[in-house]
Amino acid sequence: MTSRHLASSEATVVVVGGGLAGAQLVSALRDNGFAGNIVLVGDEAALPYQRPPLSKDYLTGRIGPEAIRLRGPEYYAANCVQVLTGDPAVRVLPSAHKVVLRSGTELRYDHLVLATGARNRSLPVPGAGLPGVVSLRTLAEAEVLRERLASAERLVVVGGGFVGMEVSSSASALGVQVSVIERHERVMARAVTPVTSEFFARAHRDRGVRLELGEGVARFLGSGAVTGVETSSGRRLPADLVLVGVGVTPNTDLAEEAGLQERDGVVVDALLRTSAPDISAIGDCARFPTPFAAAPVRLESVQNATDQARCVAARLTGDARPYRPVPWFWSRQAGARLQIAGLTDGHDRTVVRGDQDRGDFSVFCFRGDRLLGAESVGQPAAHMAVRRALEAGDQITPQELLDGSLVP
Ligand code: FAD
Ligand code: NAP
Repeated sequence: MTSRHLASSEATVVVVGGGLAGAQLVSALRDNGFAGNIVLVGDEAALPYQRPPLSKDYLTGRIGPEAIRLRGPEYYAANCVQVLTGDPAVRVLPSAHKVVLRSGTELRYDHLVLATGARNRSLPVPGAGLPGVVSLRTLAEAEVLRERLASAERLVVVGGGFVGMEVSSSASALGVQVSVIERHERVMARAVTPVTSEFFARAHRDRGVRLELGEGVARFLGSGAVTGVETSSGRRLPADLVLVGVGVTPNTDLAEEAGLQERDGVVVDALLRTSAPDISAIGDCARFPTPFAAAPVRLESVQNATDQARCVAARLTGDARPYRPVPWFWSRQAGARLQIAGLTDGHDRTVVRGDQDRGDFSVFCFRGDRLLGAESVGQPAAHMAVRRALEAGDQITPQELLDGSLVP
């Protein structure tokens, strides 16, 4: 398999997916001096934009669509990047080095980058198609949700993950009554420790959000539009708006049909190359090896999409290095900022420092004596200290934390 760099100004890089990873790849290629052709293929109508504000400031109306756009049309024109919007790629032909779009357009590539992201899981229960049952991934969906929130009185959120809890926070700030139905016994269970779940559950409850934990959905009620949700235990929650935020599934159909190796994500190696020559995959759709986990992972975060784009752009312009940045995430909800450094799956011990009542604490996660990562609320210095330690391969021991010598 090659990791050749594309020096010729005749070379063409086609990027499928006009999200964060795709847009960052394009800019990084030009920043690195790539002089060849670049075609960015997107299926959404909008130019690439940032998703994080869609559940936060965009939803509350604090910012508009201009503020979330990554680059304006003038950037792509000035940098000779051909951007095709609203025209999804429907086939990849690796042996012919071609991508076919829905419009019938065929694009030849020297290198193809799959940056197709992920799509929301649906909830196959009766009433799921009723008007007023919505989801949130794209700008178009955020516009619908924002408009509906303006007149909604009762919102039921299905799924107490990041999307569900951030939207709950924004909606309650707008004066909407919010109930969350989450099938685990705690919120954001996939991503954070019980201590952090408990802190956020309390913060949301203090703001009037009702949490229905350990509950599922039996069906959505209503005929012309949604009027409520029946939970799996038979309770009925009234609603004039329902947000379904029950996780995502990676967009791997193109890769699968092209015969690329796939396992809940397009499988890539440490250089982010797929099993086909001259095809890379980055961002939410890619499953990759990392020094920070025992097995390959697929991460759904801004940091990962951005850094993987830079890694592939560097390789294509002559600086091939394994992908190894420290993973980190953030969320803002219920008046608090959560920052996570490292990958904490598989930890067997935690040390908590700080004051949970004041929203000023960190949870350090260890496997044996090895620090895997930390969750910090209101402690940016602790978050940065852990990121730096993981980056440098330095160990912070549980004892050092308990002494208070490292983090207050
Ligand atoms: P995406 O952003 O999903 O982009 C992929 C693009 O490819 C999409 O436009 C998709 O439609 C398109 N596409 C798919 N298939 C095709 C095809 N066949 N042809 C053409 N185009 C195609 N992360 C954080 O770290 N912090 C946050 O606070 C945060 N908040 C978030 C809030 C919301 C509401 C959401 C939805 C996500 C949030 N995330 C956050 C996650 C973060 O936005 C994603 O991890 C990131 O956008 C992934 O970038 P990506 O380019 O890999 O995928
Ligand atoms: P998520 O974090 O996976 O949370 C979804 C939650 O809903 C999970 O706890 C899930 O449980 C639960 N669930 C599934 N089916 C359910 C059901 N029928 N009834 C009740 N609960 C159910 O996913 P998300 O919140 O939808 O987020 C979508 C994507 O956006 C992710 O990629 C996320 O990382 C990203 N995002 C990130 C941020 C951030 O980093 N700040 C913010 C917003 C969005 P199971 O795990 O058991 O399925």
